[in-house]
Amino acid sequence: MTSLTFSYRYLLLCFIILCTPIIYKSFHKSQVHLSVNYEPIHFTKKNVPTEYNDGKNNQLPALMNATLFMLCRNKDLSAALSSIQNVEDRFNRRYHYPWTFMNDAPFSEEFINATSAMASSNTTYVRLEQHEWGLPKGLNMNRALKTIRDMMRRSIIYGFSLSYRIMCRFNSGFFYRNSVLNNYDYYWRVEPGVIYSCDITYDPFRLLRDEKKAYGFVISLPEYPETIPTLWNTTREFIKENPQYLAPHNSLDFITDDNMGMDGEYNYCHFWSNFEIADLNFFRSDAYNDYFEYLDERFGFFYERWGDAPIHSIAASLFLNKSQLHYFEDFGYYHMPWSHCPSDYNLHANGQCICDPADTIEIQYGFCYPRWLHNMRDVNT
Ligand code: GDP
Ligand code: MN
Repeated sequence: MTSLTFSYRYLLLCFIILCTPIIYKSFHKSQVHLSVNYEPIHFTKKNVPTEYNDGKNNQLPALMNATLFMLCRNKDLSAALSSIQNVEDRFNRRYHYPWTFMNDAPFSEEFINATSAMASSNTTYVRLEQHEWGLPKGLNMNRALKTIRDMMRRSIIYGFSLSYRIMCRFNSGFFYRNSVLNNYDYYWRVEPGVIYSCDITYDPFRLLRDEKKAYGFVISLPEYPETIPTLWNTTREFIKENPQYLAPHNSLDFITDDNMGMDGEYNYCHFWSNFEIADLNFFRSDAYNDYFEYLDERFGFFYERWGDAPIHSIAASLFLNKSQLHYFEDFGYYHMPWSHCPSDYNLHANGQCICDPADTIEIQYGFCYPRWLHNMRDVNT
C-alpha cells in the first residue's frame, strides 16, 4: 500500500515537472495581446532621419518612397529578427527605410516589440483579410484536395500544403494591392532566415528609379515542372487574347530555349522571388493584374501548385522590356539551399562579403544564368 501511494506521488511529481513548461507557455501566451480588428498597427520611431548618411558625413539624397517587406508568422520571430538584424547591419542602418510586416493571423505583442526594437525605422504590422489570404470564389475543393493527396503521394515539394498554396496566391496577386503597400512605389522582399552576406553601399531603390528598372533579382534557377504542368499553356492563351501586353523587347530568350517566341516551350527558368526589389507599379499595371486574374480564374494555385516565383518571372519577362530587369550581381545572398556570392574580387572586397564565391549558384547548378546572359546580350546594362 505504501509503495503504491509512493508510486502515485512519484507519478504526480513527474507529471508536474514534465508539464510545467507547457503550462507556463500557455499561460504566457494568454498574456499576449492580439489585435481584434484588421487595422494596421503603426510603430513610429523617434528621430528617424529622412535623408541617408554614407558614414562620411556627406549629404545624400532623400529616401525613395519604398519599404522593406516581410510576410511571416509569429512563430518565425527568431528567423525574422535574424533577417532584420542582417539587413539593418548591411544596409538599412544608414538609410532607415520603413519595414512592413504582413501575417494572416494577428501579430503578437512579442513579435511587434522585438521587431520594432530591431528595425532602425518605423514598422507597420498588417493582418491580412480573408479576400487576400484565402481561396478563390468557385474553387472546387474536392478537386483541390485530390491534387493535394496526389502530390503528397508523389512527394512533390510543398504538394501536401494548402496554406503554402494560399501563400503563393497572396504573393502572386495581393501583396501589392494591400492598402499599406499601396502607399509605396518600391518594395524589397525579405524572408525570415535569409542572409545578406555583403554590405550594400548604395540605395537599390534609387538605382531602380535612376536606371528605369522595374524588377531586380539575385538568383535564377529552374522551377519544379510537376508544380506547374499547365502554367505555360495558360500563359500562351492569355497572350493570344491580350497580345498588346507583350513588350517589344521582352525576355522570351530567358524563359524559352528554342527561339520560337510564345510558340516555344517554357524552360522553367525563373527569378527566385524570396528576394525581390521591384517597382510596385509594375505589379499594379493592367498587364500584370489581368494576367493574375486570368490565372486565378483557372485555379492553378490549387489544382496544381503554381508558385509566385514563376508567375512574377514570366510576367516580368513578357510584359517588361529587358532593359527594365536588373541583376543585383553585387549582392551576397543566401536562402536555403542556394546562395549568390559576387565572384569579382573588387565587388567581394568592397562589399566586405563573408560568402565564398565557390559556393555561388551560377557555377554549380542550372542553365538559367547562361540564359540570362544570352537574353541580355543585346542590352547595355
Ligand atoms: P519557400 O521559400 O518556398 O520554402 O517558402 P517559405 O516557407 O519560406 O514561405 C515563403 C514566405 O511566406 C516566407 O516569407 C514565409 O514567412 C511566408 N509564409 C509561408 N507560409 C505562411 C503562412 O502560412 N502564414 C504567413 N503569415 N506567412 C507564411
Ligand atoms: Mn523561403
